[in-house]
Amino acid sequence: MNRPATMTTNRFDIVVIGAGIHGAGIAQAATAAGYSVRILEQYPQPARGTSSRSSKLIHGGLRYLETGQFHLVMECLRERQILLHNAPQLVKLRPFYIPVYDWSKHQPWILRTGLSLYALLGGLGPQMRFKTLDRRQWQRLEGLRTDNLRVVFQYYDAQTDDRALTHAVMHSATRMGAELILGATATRIELGDTGGLVQFSRTGKISECHAKVIVNAAGPWVNDVVQRVLPHQNPYPYDLVQGTHIIVPGRLYAGIYYVEAPQDGRAVFIMPWGENTLVGTTECTYTGAPDAIKPSNTEIEYLLEVVHHYFPQKTVKRNNIIHVFAGARVLPKGRNAASARLRETSLITDRELQPRLISVIGGKLTAYRATGQRVMTEIASSLPPRTPIANTKHIPLVPKQ
Ligand SMILES: Cc1cc2nc3c(=O)[nH]c(=O)nc-3n(C[C@H](O)[C@H](O)[C@H](O)COP(=O)(O)OP(=O)(O)OC[C@H]3O[C@@H](n4cnc5c(N)ncnc54)[C@H](O)[C@@H]3O)c2cc1C
Repeated sequence: MNRPATMTTNRFDIVVIGAGIHGAGIAQAATAAGYSVRILEQYPQPARGTSSRSSKLIHGGLRYLETGQFHLVMECLRERQILLHNAPQLVKLRPFYIPVYDWSKHQPWILRTGLSLYALLGGLGPQMRFKTLDRRQWQRLEGLRTDNLRVVFQYYDAQTDDRALTHAVMHSATRMGAELILGATATRIELGDTGGLVQFSRTGKISECHAKVIVNAAGPWVNDVVQRVLPHQNPYPYDLVQGTHIIVPGRLYAGIYYVEAPQDGRAVFIMPWGENTLVGTTECTYTGAPDAIKPSNTEIEYLLEVVHHYFPQKTVKRNNIIHVFAGARVLPKGRNAASARLRETSLITDRELQPRLISVIGGKLTAYRATGQRVMTEIASSLPPRTPIANTKHIPLVPKQ
């Protein structure tokens, strides 16, 4: 390979590509375990990709029980507990309401069974309790439609600011010694007998660094990064599924409403977001470049219809919408509906023994810490022993000023 004259070489145990929640979580896990880490992020700030475009829930995912993803739900509920403890300013427990109408797809007995299982998987603590609201309490639900309403379930899950959480996790990694380079795009990765070389461009200058292990945490760009690897690696089979949210005026006080979209029965959340209301999400297959993703008119109309259906007094018009954003999930390839596909994180290494490259495919914001730990286990055989300096289970996370 011809090396530009301006290049400098640096050596790290681990180079992470991507400063979304996974890149931040892996950098945190690696520095806590005593390793030297550099993170490369193409944008000028962390969390400019999916990690600022999620539904912002720290949850087990009640609906994943329908597809039998018990391990994922249990892991996410465990992580929820850890985050409520370590990041009380960033992750808040909220009451969730599930209204069930005569025409709802999910009957009360199904929800009661699901919520019981959810509580069981979450360890049956006080924060896992659920109940049905007394009819007299329905009027506290901020104008929620009550014709043909049969029952309202109330349980607890948590809400965060995904961007702020990612910044806080990244900050904890850099405080422990990780080096974050912003505006740095990984352009070429050369794998050697052990480890590899990452070439990156920043403000027109090409630099490179060497790592014992390279972590591809590029989210929806994961295959773009794979294409830059030498020797050639096969791209991973997955679909990108776009999810849009809208922010509309008007504050919700009671909590988060978990409803079935009247159009197709899909799950939609209607949530307080500061002084406003956040509504989402949609799910449509996306085939373009991850940086070109943008909300479609159909998605915006779909979400407005959901709001009008459940809160008929909220007359939100298209031009009242405060903000719209869309992000892309990385889901296993398939012909079935996105909502039925597995949400587990997959970790793919270039070889079984002493991997030089590991890629993170899919996953949940909620489980980022557990994913970081799993990555460290997967790459342990490629790394020398080091003395840990912290345990990610106990690292406090505070909003970055
Ligand atoms: C609509 C939607 C709603 C969701 N809601 C929830 C939820 O409520 N709760 C939950 O737990 N999970 C949720 N998720 C899942 C969660 O948001 C994602 O799993 C998570 O944010 C993915 O993070 P990531 O770090 O893998 O990817 P990203 O956040 O996209 O980060 C990847 C980073 O890599 C960088 N990058 C890419 N290529 C390069 C390169 N060549 N060089 C340098 N940098 C590069 C990008 O700029 C980006 O910053 C949701 C996902 C979507 C799409």
